[in-house]
Amino acid sequence: MLVSNWPNAIAHVDADCFFASCEQLRRPDLKGRPICVLSSQDACVVAKTYDAKAAGITTGMPVWEARRKMPDAIFLSADFRYYGQISDKLFAILRRYSPVVEEYSIDEGFMDLNGLRSLYRKPYRAIADDIRNTVRHEAGITVSVGISVTRTLAKMASEYNKPDGTTIVAGRCIHDFLERVSVRDIPGIGGNRQALLNKFGIRSAADFVDVPEREIRRLLGKAGTDLWHELNGTPLYKVGTEARLPRSVARTASMGEVTQDRQTIRAHLLNHAMRLSRELITKRLTAGQLTVFLTLKSFDKQASTSDLPYPSADYFLLAGEAGRALDELYDPDRHYRACGLIASDIAMRQPGSFDLFQMAEQRQEEKHLQLLETLHAINHKYGANVLSICGAMQKRRAGGEMGRFGYPVLECG
Ligand SMILES: [Mg+2]
Repeated sequence: MLVSNWPNAIAHVDADCFFASCEQLRRPDLKGRPICVLSSQDACVVAKTYDAKAAGITTGMPVWEARRKMPDAIFLSADFRYYGQISDKLFAILRRYSPVVEEYSIDEGFMDLNGLRSLYRKPYRAIADDIRNTVRHEAGITVSVGISVTRTLAKMASEYNKPDGTTIVAGRCIHDFLERVSVRDIPGIGGNRQALLNKFGIRSAADFVDVPEREIRRLLGKAGTDLWHELNGTPLYKVGTEARLPRSVARTASMGEVTQDRQTIRAHLLNHAMRLSRELITKRLTAGQLTVFLTLKSFDKQASTSDLPYPSADYFLLAGEAGRALDELYDPDRHYRACGLIASDIAMRQPGSFDLFQMAEQRQEEKHLQLLETLHAINHKYGANVLSICGAMQKRRAGGEMGRFGYPVLECG
């Protein structure tokens, strides 16, 4: 445990019930009422207020089930573009307090606060309260703020006193704080890991840090020991400054077999397209160019690069391009072992990257991004691939905007 209180200071700011709060902001008549925000096709719940949660409604729950649990709740379709505008306001406020702000997701961010106590002549608790009040007044939503010596502790602190709370965990108070938190509340410890740790008598986060490092390594590997150090007050993860744009983003892998089967290769490419799209969407990036490559049994590579019709992160567009390139490259007499996609000409996603003649494409892309964001939000909450796009492998004869790919079917797994 640390002997000094503030060798390092990181804040985690997290909006409370963000989507639902945004809805209450533009419709004050909904204030104080239970709200469920639904995925873009209104199939399931993607966010809810605390009272809806208390009624047993969970993220990812089908809408009919949520309606049965709470018939008087308000059910609204998600409007990610609007939530993005509120998010922009939130982060603009945070950047007034610290030049080093990392947008971790649409409604949460990390701030490097080192040195700011003397600048503001205030203790960290007062700075945190200031941030909360400013966000409430100017952005119209509430946030919870945690400040501690590492990212992981700051994140656990912001979670500790929700909604609209401040939690400060100085170096010397870490152990006291961890005693009040379950291992389940450590970011990265899911149900399975919790069960494993409980078997070894590790129940609270304090139990976790009291176990020797080598024991954590044995149980959870490197990811576990990284967490162990962060919880012991040793910062391993820094607050990322303004992300520099990557030159390219790639998703490639061996297919695990040598194959001549076009459908198998297509299935791998579509999987890569989904992963690539998710990466671009979460980092708010777009690609202007896509390279599709196939690796032959001989390890020779064949590639095809094309310009996308507009800068995009849309899975459906990437998947369509990947399919077209596969048709061009594929030779039924050859054997293939690996394939992949490389997105290049990377830019920050911004409204207005379409020209006037692309209004229809823009509307279509917005719909797709809403669907994909919902899907990723649910997967983020419930573990990768709870929801996946399937049916995309099925060949369709008709042409149309989507090429040969079937419309996606959302599957709960
Ligand atoms: Mg939040």
